[in-house]
This record gives sequence, structure tokens and C-alpha cells, in this order.
Amino acid sequence: MVTDKASDAQNDKLNVLKSTQTVVQIALEKLGYPDEVFELLKEPIRMMTVRIPVRMDNDAVKIFTGYRAQHNDAVGPTKGGVRFHPNVSENEVKALSIWMSLKAGIVDLPYGGGKGGIVCDPREMSFRELEGLSRGYVRAISQIVGPTKDIPAPDVFTNPQIMAWMMDEYSRIDEFNNPGFITGKPLVLGGSHGRESATAKGVTICIDEAIKKQGMELKGARVVIQGFGNAGSFLAKFMHDAGAKVIGISDAYGGLHDPDGLDIDYLLDRRDSFGTVTKLFNDTITNEELLELDCDILVPAAVENQITEDNADKVRASIVVEAANGPTTLAATKILNDKGTLLVPDVLASAGGVTVSYFEWVQNNQGYYWSEEEIEEKLYKVMTKAFNTVYNTAQTRRVDMRLAAYMVGVRKMAEAARFRGWI
Ligand code: GLU
Repeated sequence: MVTDKASDAQNDKLNVLKSTQTVVQIALEKLGYPDEVFELLKEPIRMMTVRIPVRMDNDAVKIFTGYRAQHNDAVGPTKGGVRFHPNVSENEVKALSIWMSLKAGIVDLPYGGGKGGIVCDPREMSFRELEGLSRGYVRAISQIVGPTKDIPAPDVFTNPQIMAWMMDEYSRIDEFNNPGFITGKPLVLGGSHGRESATAKGVTICIDEAIKKQGMELKGARVVIQGFGNAGSFLAKFMHDAGAKVIGISDAYGGLHDPDGLDIDYLLDRRDSFGTVTKLFNDTITNEELLELDCDILVPAAVENQITEDNADKVRASIVVEAANGPTTLAATKILNDKGTLLVPDVLASAGGVTVSYFEWVQNNQGYYWSEEEIEEKLYKVMTKAFNTVYNTAQTRRVDMRLAAYMVGVRKMAEAARFRGWI
């Protein structure tokens, strides 16, 4: 019995939906909203579970489970990525949709949050099987999505090719070409300059701002990045180009460490499309060891629940910037804050992706396209403003950066719901 209770408590701590709800509730309380606002915002307004039949290459039909969560559409259409991963669950997709709402609020986009996921392992699927799954998912959710309802995008293990199939399928259902249905598309299909590297660009801007606040310098700073997918790999490049020393990186199978700095260009060249590169080396460390390396800046850019109460104490970086969604548990957040680490939370640090997705959607709606420089300039303005709004809120309200970010992120949504007469 005791062990059951202990493992329940442990599961609760790793339950991303519960911990998100906890912080949303505290943020609303701090802002003076009544409990009914929390009741509205604690779960998505809409959650669809779908079953997707796909004819596999061996001719057998396999049935996949997928989800689409729409957290809140008081501000505008919901928006957020679709992940293809074996660990996708209903709870996770719900939490991810709430985080998207918060991101939209923090960078001030006219959206609410949404998120989708399919339980699958794309690393073990062929190109054609992935196409069938992507198209099947769009057919299954087509009634609740669309450019003025809910706009999908890439997330873990999904990419511009998958967005292209999804856009094509939706356009066929709609009977006209509809690029604004989805973002993260290839450039030739109405994608935006700068979208692929946008999350990492946003993280880089947050690192620059955080460095200034800590009175440090990026040049020569030792950076460790967990995860070598879209965010992690572009970030390694940006850090390397800015003169920082990337001394550790990892993928799902392990990590690489060199105190003198890794050869980032070589690693980028050798990584596969899922961000795997460490399999080519014998001398690897574990992901756990990577998080405890002696460094100045640590960027978890992989999956949830990586920094927990078990290892937070051993994190040696003075700045932690969350490029992944939900990499640090609440207990670990407290440990890091108590020891003076500047923790830049996911809902702020990773908001560059959805910001450039918004630019992509605007360009699709207006039919006029911006240059790479214009996108970069716009992203820079949005991210520096967001960082400083959250930082100043943390200072003036005497709360940590995560709670400050939630306070900033939830306010617009609560106000919009009030004006609409929902609460
Ligand atoms: N999946 C990304 C995120 O978690 C981007 C979402 C989007 O571009 O809509 O923020």
C-alpha cells in the first residue's frame, strides 16, 4: 500500500496536466480572478480522439490513435503543433494545448492554444506509411480544424513534408487551395522564411536577454543542449556561431561531451532527420550525466520531465532555458529558483516557433510574402518584449519566471472570456 501511495505521488509529480493546472490556478489567484475562471481554463474546451486506419507496406491495416485538443478560443482560433511519438497520451496533449494558449498570450498573438498528437513511432515507418497516417489524421479531424478555427503546425517528429501532405489533404476536402490551414509548410507551398529555425531563434533571443540580466557574456560561455531535433540542432548552430562553446549535446540514445567544445558543423552534417547522431560514437555519456555537466547555460530541448527533484540539485548551469515543452517539474523549478538559477520557462522560451507560424498564417491570408530579414526583425521585437514583460512581472510581483510567464500568458484569455460573457 505504502509503495502504491508513493508511486501515485511520484506519478502526480510527473503529471504534466496536473502541474500545469496548479500553476494556472496560482496565476489566476494572483491576478485576482474568481475560481470560475480556473474552472473554465483548467481543461481544453474541446478534445477529439480519433482512430486512423493506415494500410502499411506489408498490406496489413494498422489502426493508430490520435488526438486534437483545443484549449480555449476566446481570443481567436486555436493554434499548435501535432506530434508523432510513441509516448503521446490524452493528458499530455491536453497540457500541451494549455501551454500553447499561454505562449500565444505571452507573445501576444490573436490565438488560443491547440495541440495534436498521434501515438506512433515515425522512426519505424516508411515515407508512404507516414503520408497515409498524416492524411488520415486530417480526414479524421477535418470538421474541427481550419484556418479560422484551429491551425496545426509541426512538433516533435513532424516536419514540413508532413505539413505539406496535411495541407494537400485539407485543401482536397475543402475543394480549394488552403495554405492557411497549417503552418510550418515548405516555402514553395506558402511556408515562411525563418519558420524552421524559429524556435531556436526565439531561444537564442531569450538566452541573450538572460545573459544580460546575469551580467554574463555569451562569447566563450559553456552551453549544454539536451536534444538534437529541430530546436536543439538549430540552437547548437546559433550558439556556436555566436562564439559560445557548445560542450554537450544529446539525442534520445545518449550524449556527447567535450569540455573544449564539440565540432557542431560535423555533428549537424551527420545527424539523421530525427536528430540522431550519438549512435556514430563509442564514447558517449547518458542523458542524465549530460544535465549535470559543469556549464553556464543548460538548454533542455527534448521532452518532458527531464529535470526533476532527483537531479535539480546537481544542475550546475546558472541559466536554464527551456526549449522543450515541460522539461522541468514543479519541484525542480523550486529547487533551481532557490539556488539562484535563472530559469527561463518553456512557455516563453519556446514561443518563437508559434510566433513565426503566426507570421506564416498572416502571409497566407494576405497573399503577400516577407523576406527573411523582415521575419527576423519582427521575431526579435516580439521575443525581446515578451522576455522583458515576463522578467519585469517576476521582479515586481516577486514571483519566479514560470509563474510570471503564466500570469502574463493567462490574462488576455481570461479578459477575452469575460468580454464575451462566458464568465
Ligand atoms: N509545436 C510548436 C510549439 O510547441 C509550434 C506550434 C505552432 O507553430 O503553432 O510551440
